[in-house]
Amino acid sequence: MNIIIFGPPGAGKGTQAKILVRKLNSFQISTGDMLRDEIKKDTDIGKKILNNMDDGKFVDDEIVNKLLEKIIYDSKKTKLIFDGYPRTINQAKNLNILLNKSNQKIDYIFFLNVSKKVIIERIEKRKILEKRTDDDAATILRRYDIYMKETKPVLDFYSSHKGFHEIDGSLGIDEITLKIGAILNV
Ligand code: AMP
Repeated sequence: MNIIIFGPPGAGKGTQAKILVRKLNSFQISTGDMLRDEIKKDTDIGKKILNNMDDGKFVDDEIVNKLLEKIIYDSKKTKLIFDGYPRTINQAKNLNILLNKSNQKIDYIFFLNVSKKVIIERIEKRKILEKRTDDDAATILRRYDIYMKETKPVLDFYSSHKGFHEIDGSLGIDEITLKIGAILNV
């Protein structure tokens, strides 16, 4: 069973993905974590993406798609929780192609819908806790604008999917977990 956790930055995608990993014994694919890891290890990719990441801009589809392909095939896992991918229509199409190749599909999409105001409050808090360099106020606004322009249209791609569910992302962590759990029966 493969699941996409979808939503704006600060919606709680990573938090819910980690909870599902524990509950379903599945594997989290966070492209944000993968890209931060490239930067930490100072790889060629890391050097290339550093500026874009710090500015809150997207990393090129080509780079992200390649990293994703590698992890999907290398991991040989069949229960995947996607967190922060797909973020563009191109990525959504790419994900379908990759999953098709290994006879897999997306079973559920949980859209954590949350307002700009709540996002700003949450990310300000996360900045202190996680010390992410892309969590300052100006960058948060940029990331939100990019989300509205590039990522929100991906919803059209999935909204007619039978496993699509919109959840109020402004609820507390436990409440969101309960709502997702009720749908998945876990
Ligand atoms: P996240 O940890 O999901 O909030 O992602 C942090 C940053 O990583 C984003 O602001 C982008 O710069 C980059 N990033 C993560 N996932 C993607 C993706 N699927 N496509 C492009 N850039 C991404």
